[in-house]
Amino acid sequence: MAKKTKFKIDLKLNSIKVKGVTIDSNGDYHIYVSCTANSTLCHKCGHKITKSHGQSDESIIEHLPIFDQCVFIHVKWPRFKCDKCDNDNSTTSFKPKWVNDTGNKTRVYENYCLKFLINSTIKDVSEKLNTTEEIIEGIIKRNIKTNINWMEIKPTIIGLDEIALRKGHSHYVTIVSDLSDNKKVKILGVFDGNSKKDILPFLQSIPKEILLSLEGVTIDMGASYFSALKELIDDVDRFNRIVTIDRFHVAKLLGDKVDKERKKVIKNLKIEFENDDDKLESIKRTMWPFRHHRDDLSEDENDRLEKLFELAPSLKECYKLREELYGIFEIEGLSKKEGKEKIDEWCKKANLFETKGFNPFTSFIKTYRNFEENILNYFTNRISSGPVEGLNNKIKVIKRRGFGFRNIANFAKRLFLDINYKPIFLPT
Ligand SMILES: [Zn+2]
Repeated sequence: MAKKTKFKIDLKLNSIKVKGVTIDSNGDYHIYVSCTANSTLCHKCGHKITKSHGQSDESIIEHLPIFDQCVFIHVKWPRFKCDKCDNDNSTTSFKPKWVNDTGNKTRVYENYCLKFLINSTIKDVSEKLNTTEEIIEGIIKRNIKTNINWMEIKPTIIGLDEIALRKGHSHYVTIVSDLSDNKKVKILGVFDGNSKKDILPFLQSIPKEILLSLEGVTIDMGASYFSALKELIDDVDRFNRIVTIDRFHVAKLLGDKVDKERKKVIKNLKIEFENDDDKLESIKRTMWPFRHHRDDLSEDENDRLEKLFELAPSLKECYKLREELYGIFEIEGLSKKEGKEKIDEWCKKANLFETKGFNPFTSFIKTYRNFEENILNYFTNRISSGPVEGLNNKIKVIKRRGFGFRNIANFAKRLFLDINYKPIFLPT
């Protein structure tokens, strides 16, 4: 057996020839190369130029690691002179396509860093790749584009959603997403704010062709997206047909109203049974079971809910009405007309409900009527909220990992990298 086993490695970089390799005290590789190019394009006039005019200073370009050791390419780029631009004494250095814009990393090295960044933090990656956070930030900045090529993506269903940039802060960001393909939800835009004026310029930048081919736009029940879209889509019939209020936002609104009623009732029960430990025990730990669907409850949670309902029959009624409305959206094959009839019946029942001269459903029904046409669109286009929820969960994780972003541009680039670029860097 040979004492040393050597093999050749293809650097996969063109226009260069290896002169020699050294290994420094860290074990990192320094590959000295000469450039074989004999022409370039004049940076002034764009013509091909071949008149040699010396060399640039040495460039050191970081390439993909070998055996977990850094690899640096040392090269002096040839310079060429342009005859046409000669009076300006114009020279241009050759630079191959595999070098990045700053001239000190190969593009494959930058992609390699981006691949590591997916589901990871800048700090993590800079430590693992033995580089600085600034360098990693620069790589993100240069490579992750947040502008959209509409004609390439051609979304047919888009979603508008707001998220709080940091927990407990009322600083909202609007996320526009492409929901055309359930399995490939993409980010189309990330904007500071959630008001009409924050979002309208972006919506207006969507090419007319794309706008006219949209089959659905899902939004929450906030007035700002609604009115922004109304301004964008001036055909009222079309607006009424394609703009859909996401049913989970409808469910959330109803859930919140009903939960307010629960809080009020519990507060009164606690006063009423102040000296009755058994009854007080029945009231405890009922928030979770009350807020969730029956099917999602354990036996114990179900028992607790029943005990609470024995003490407060009106809450049971409230709970039932809430679940009944949720259920209407679950019925398969219901048409928009049938959906409307069922919800109208539900409204009649809910209108009759009253506790001590107060109806917790009144304000919900009022909001429902305001957006009725667009809420009912769910029954026509059945845009599933699953992908949106999946997207929101991803965004939450990215936010948490970034310890709450302060800078919208950085946040946007992270979302684009982790969601849109992921299939490119980590193909499955
Ligand atoms: Zn020239």
